[in-house]
Amino acid sequence: MLAAKGYAAQSANATLAPWDFERRDVGPHDVQIDILYCGVCHSDLAQINNEWFPGIFPMIPGHEIVGRVVKVGEHVKNFKPGDLAGVGTLANSCGKCSHCEDGLEVYCENGVIPTYNGIDRYRDNLPTYGGYSNTIVTDESFTLRISEKLNLAAAAPLLCAGITTYSPMKHWKVGKGHKVAVLGLGGLGHMAVKFGIALGAEVTILSTSPHKASDAKKLGAHHFVVTSNAEEVEKVKASFDFIIDTVSAEHDFDFYLSLLRLNGVHILVGIPPAGFTIKSVGMFQLGRKSVVGSASGGLPETQEMLDFCAEHNIVSDIELIDMKDIHTAFDRMTRGDVKYRFVIDMATL
Ligand code: NAP
Ligand code: ZN
Ligand code: ZN
Repeated sequence: MLAAKGYAAQSANATLAPWDFERRDVGPHDVQIDILYCGVCHSDLAQINNEWFPGIFPMIPGHEIVGRVVKVGEHVKNFKPGDLAGVGTLANSCGKCSHCEDGLEVYCENGVIPTYNGIDRYRDNLPTYGGYSNTIVTDESFTLRISEKLNLAAAAPLLCAGITTYSPMKHWKVGKGHKVAVLGLGGLGHMAVKFGIALGAEVTILSTSPHKASDAKKLGAHHFVVTSNAEEVEKVKASFDFIIDTVSAEHDFDFYLSLLRLNGVHILVGIPPAGFTIKSVGMFQLGRKSVVGSASGGLPETQEMLDFCAEHNIVSDIELIDMKDIHTAFDRMTRGDVKYRFVIDMATL
């Protein structure tokens, strides 16, 4: 086993603190990456706090991982020491079901193994540990290539915030002529704005935070609507083809459905712990509207997204933090005060 260092929560709701642990040895199909940066996703906080399901502790969060390859197994074809590489939300999947065969590993019929907070039952039955750590060993087929053209720290959030917003936009063919609303301007939301613009859509940000208006403009969004302002909301009633909903907390779905036009699609990527409730059946039927969901993305599409970002020079807007300041970052993220993704500089571990 390989000695590794990380920041772990020893139990649910615990403060993250330094923890020495072990990674598996580099197998024939494995890549070992020395982690340089790791993004901070709202899902990290949700899982430390057991918001979705009882977690596996000690837990080392982090699934927006970038770094340099230091070692590869003898059968590895696409990576060599010195290459940049990334790891997103997935550590493993069954590799045999029809979804895995189609490159949709995140939807593995037998259950995907997450990068952390999972037990890799397809390999060694050991817990998986995430990117708030100095090094990681991953199967080559779950490792992504990162262009040297991109700012590396700012590319880290592409591994989750990026693919989670890119994937549904591609699946539902968002593009020219579409009016797209991005609900919630946080880590996922600001990436959705960038992809929406790159794909040619007219993008409106729906936000609870009036002070984000100037940032919305800088991001290139066409419109900015404060959802508590009735006058602004009235102007966008029944107007959107798509809402990309990135909100992490409970919110009023009936209200947002009223902003969709005929055949409009409400795409849920945020994960409110209490789930969601829709009271107005008529709202669906009379507008022929849909509510759909999407998880991060499969490996081929994640690579496609990273290549798209390199081509269009798209990265995340980040605040680089020291590892010890992670709880300040969590607190600010909870208050919606993040511009627009915290990324940990792993040299500070
Ligand atoms: P984040 O940076 O904290 O952004 C969430 C944004 O939602 C906030 O900045 C805020 O934007 C808005 N918001 C917060 N509370 C709200 C409320 N009560 N009502 C309306 N808006 C509210 O979080 P993130 O990292 O982007 O993650 C967003 C969600 O996606 C989380 O639930 C996360 O777990 C989930 N997620 C899902 C996947 C997936 O595979 N589907 C992958 C990654 C993350 P404004 O200030 O603009 O209102
Ligand atoms: Zn995430
Ligand atoms: Zn599978």
